Amino acid sequence: MPLEIRLNDVVRMRKVHPCGSYEWRVVRLGADIGIRCLKCNHRVLMERRQFEKRLKAFVSRGEPMDPAMERLLFREEEKEA
Ligand SMILES: [Zn+2]
Repeated sequence: MPLEIRLNDVVRMRKVHPCGSYEWRVVRLGADIGIRCLKCNHRVLMERRQFEKRLKAFVSRGEPMDPAMERLLFREEEKEA
């Protein structure tokens, strides 16, 4: 079952960022996951698979998204690619 990732989730990664922080906020969902470092604001895009591999734990969860809205967003994402 695929991991449910939500916008505004705060996640703890396995590897420390050069700035010294382990915690990131999910800022973009789609084929690629966008996360922003909570300490230095550095933004990274990575494949969902890679994200799941690096994820250690959820620190706090964002609001669940309306499934219809989510489908819409994912379709938009595919068009971009
Ligand atoms: Zn950082």
